[in-house]
Amino acid sequence: MVEIAKTSLQAIDIEATLRLILKNAIRALGGSSGVIATWSEAERRFVVSASYALDSTALAQLNPILNEAVPDLAGSKDSTHLLSELYPDLALPASEQGVRQNPIIALPLQIAGKWLGLIYILRPLNASAFLETDRPVLAAFADQAAIALQNAKLAHLLAEEKRTIESVLEHTADGIMSIDSLRQLISFNLTMEKLTGYSRGEVLGKECFRVLRLRNHKGENMCLLNCPLLTDSCAGSPTLERQGVIEAKDGRPIDVAMVYSIIRSPSGKAISAVVNVRDVSQVRQLENLRETFLSMLGHELQTPLSIIKGYANTLSRSDSHWNEETVQQGLQVIEEESDRLSKIVNRLLLASRISTGTSPLRKEPIQLPSIANKVARRLQAVTSAHTFEFDFQSDFPSVLADPELIEEVLTNLVENAIKYSPEGGKIRLSGSLAGKMVRVSVSDEGVGIPAEELPHIFERFHRLKNSSAQATKGIGLGLYICKSIIEAHGGTIEASSQPGKGSLFTFSLPLGQGAAA
Ligand code: ADP
Repeated sequence: MVEIAKTSLQAIDIEATLRLILKNAIRALGGSSGVIATWSEAERRFVVSASYALDSTALAQLNPILNEAVPDLAGSKDSTHLLSELYPDLALPASEQGVRQNPIIALPLQIAGKWLGLIYILRPLNASAFLETDRPVLAAFADQAAIALQNAKLAHLLAEEKRTIESVLEHTADGIMSIDSLRQLISFNLTMEKLTGYSRGEVLGKECFRVLRLRNHKGENMCLLNCPLLTDSCAGSPTLERQGVIEAKDGRPIDVAMVYSIIRSPSGKAISAVVNVRDVSQVRQLENLRETFLSMLGHELQTPLSIIKGYANTLSRSDSHWNEETVQQGLQVIEEESDRLSKIVNRLLLASRISTGTSPLRKEPIQLPSIANKVARRLQAVTSAHTFEFDFQSDFPSVLADPELIEEVLTNLVENAIKYSPEGGKIRLSGSLAGKMVRVSVSDEGVGIPAEELPHIFERFHRLKNSSAQATKGIGLGLYICKSIIEAHGGTIEASSQPGKGSLFTFSLPLGQGAAA
């Protein structure tokens, strides 16, 4: 019995446990073989889970009996039946020893009145029939088998539950890791691996502060100063939050919000913690963008508004009489500044429509050389310091694109070429064919762009920090709009520059179907 109980508790190999129970039951009841059948939910019948001293032929013969006997067993008040009485003609095939087997005793395996299975013990044919006094003996073994089955069922459920939880934790959108009291990493989910670039093999067992190096936004080491596992307090909430920057394997900083769920001993000492790590880089970028946007709005809208208000106030003063020329000049400034304001508002609206995808393209065959010409002619009127040069082949193909949006792109590029070459110079607009794409370039001889700034100039609200850019009016949306428009057409845009000598902006557009030379 001790042997059985021990094995049942382990509930690892249920078949071995049931076989052991069977073997002991057979020995105790003077049987020669036996079967334990359990209910299969999938097959909706009793199937053999363990057998002892029965070959496959004998088992096949016994199989129908397992299910047929159930109604009789279920109907029996004391849940015991001597099947030899129920099946007096039963003649089972020869066992391993060549002995025909009979009689049989059977009992249900029950837990809290619920059937889990059946136990059958068989005696040799020539042995004496089972008696009522055999019932309690078998009942003890039936109880053992029922407990073992129940344990196995629970273990199975637990394992399944564990697998479900592990799979949820593994694939959750947030990074999840756990650390012990020494702050060594004991688990690290897939999202953490993707976020940091570390595989769990590289980090498990290592101290988390050596791997992730959490710092606050001032650059101070939060693991030394403020690790939640080092606080010996269980007052208040069982979770603690930290915001900061962790370091990916390649050294890349990642903005994160970490929530520590701390498991404490009764004395309040931290034993371990499960940490939820959320990547908040995008949120932070949006916050930065919002701040830049607000400061840009303050600056770029405030100036024309102040000028308009100043001139309007001056011109409307009843105690002064202005001559016609002064009034005209004042009105012209008001008109120019209003135009600037409306241009800023239009750019903001276009940028917003582009980023929300609510600006559908109205594509038609367009002639890029004539649009480039139109833009240059319009802008030549505002500068005498710049000369324009064109280089488009005469049979330049037409392109399928939205004419208004492409004009907006060229206007932005040429305006920038003028703005960022304050000393004047040549502005060259050229076009060429490159396979199934056309390429259009705008170059200037202006201040140029430092190499480290080139990857960022197409970002929203990005303006160069240098004095020449700061001295020039702008909101940092022009190139973002250009990039969005060109990409919406399936093209690309890039910039190159020699600081101090000038810049070159080139966009490409697919020739597209229906476009023709
Ligand atoms: P804005 O001109 O309104 O600031 P843009 O998005 O058009 O915004 O340009 C972004 C930044 O790129 C500018 O602030 C400027 O520093 C730089 N830039 C753009 N075009 C040129 C150019 N042709 N030459 C030098 N710098 C340029």
